[in-house]
Amino acid sequence: MNQHTGEADLADTEVVRIARDLIRMDTSNHGPGKAEGEAEATDYCRALLEEAGLRCQVFEAGKDRTNLVARWPGRDPGLPALMVHGHLDVVPADPADWSVDPFGGEVRDGMLWGRGAVDMKGTDAMILASVREAIRRGEQPRRDIVLCLFADEESGCAHGSAWLVDEHPHLFEGVGNAISEVGGYSVDIAGRRAYLLQTGEKGALWAKLTAEGTAGHGSQLHDDNALVRLAEAVGRIGRTTWPVTLTDTTAELLERVRLLAGLPLGTDPSRIAEAAGFGARFIKPSLQNVVNVTMFNGGYKANVVPERAGAVLDVRCLPGHRDAVLDRIRGLAGPGVRVDVETDLPALENPFDGDLVGRIAETLRRHDPDAEVLPYLLPAGTDNKPLSRLGIRGFGFAPLRLPADLDFPSLFHGVDERVPLDSLVFGREVLTDLLLGY
Ligand SMILES: [Zn+2]
Repeated sequence: MNQHTGEADLADTEVVRIARDLIRMDTSNHGPGKAEGEAEATDYCRALLEEAGLRCQVFEAGKDRTNLVARWPGRDPGLPALMVHGHLDVVPADPADWSVDPFGGEVRDGMLWGRGAVDMKGTDAMILASVREAIRRGEQPRRDIVLCLFADEESGCAHGSAWLVDEHPHLFEGVGNAISEVGGYSVDIAGRRAYLLQTGEKGALWAKLTAEGTAGHGSQLHDDNALVRLAEAVGRIGRTTWPVTLTDTTAELLERVRLLAGLPLGTDPSRIAEAAGFGARFIKPSLQNVVNVTMFNGGYKANVVPERAGAVLDVRCLPGHRDAVLDRIRGLAGPGVRVDVETDLPALENPFDGDLVGRIAETLRRHDPDAEVLPYLLPAGTDNKPLSRLGIRGFGFAPLRLPADLDFPSLFHGVDERVPLDSLVFGREVLTDLLLGY
């Protein structure tokens, strides 16, 4: 890309126009049973792919909860297919908090602003524009590419990837690896640009604590109060510290960051993570199990001691740690407090090698010759979790070359979510090469 390309030229590129159009379609997902739906956005994406000559299938998991699947045939149908997926829903945005209309798709200061610019309509646009560009050039990928745009990622995937995996698994036949969001962006490490390729995800477990006691009048003596029992359990759980425990992915990441930053052997892991600049926001929670208390429910009147009270924990486990973490939580909860697991999504970890990882690194270096490519473990989850039930190995690779001073991780679900226009153009170029060359 020409360095002198102006904002107006960048704003007029296909990738930016698609991202802007998608941001303007409000696909807010407020949680189970309360979502704007993805139908309008799905229709828009379908038209773009069909115009390029791809046949699309749309599956509706509920009213306006639409999922798009298209197969772009490769030259060698014997090779395992690559899935490239995104989600079209976004988390809600309160316009009162924002400097711009979150659903306006405004271009300002060389950036595209709006809910979804980062998570993940910008990436959806990179995928769509890459495919259209390659087809316009008359090119065909080596292997089949299965393109999916899912609903409902922001609320547990029940109307999206999880539903499709259960109801229509044949769609994903022959898929080996998948690439999608929350990886492939650059961070600054001691003046070097390093791209964090997401090769794994922590597990997610949402557990409900229920304390029971004896109900009664608030004026009487009570030594069996459900709220007190719950508060004590939550206090014990919330004050527990979880040790830093490295996995294959985080051990390799920290060692590579340590060398890039010129830190001595034996440097404390969290100090090494801080050398990855804003990337530390994602890296630090990937070094340990994380347990947060996120909800409280209990009581209904000032003069009534309630019979029961509840709280919710958001537990993010390292690969292989789920059972031990859950046992420890049950022990901390203590007698009279039940722990029920309500959502239980697996941790994933792929080795940082293989033909896809090699091809990603090679493709990135072709576009950014000094690029370092490092593995990382996402402390959160993506559609890769449901897809893993079919044996699909998911990676996070939405390539973005970012300015060193942009706190990118804080923009996920953040106020004033925005992405540099030239980063989107860079990402589209890298992705086109990867899809054709892998
Ligand atoms: Zn996302």
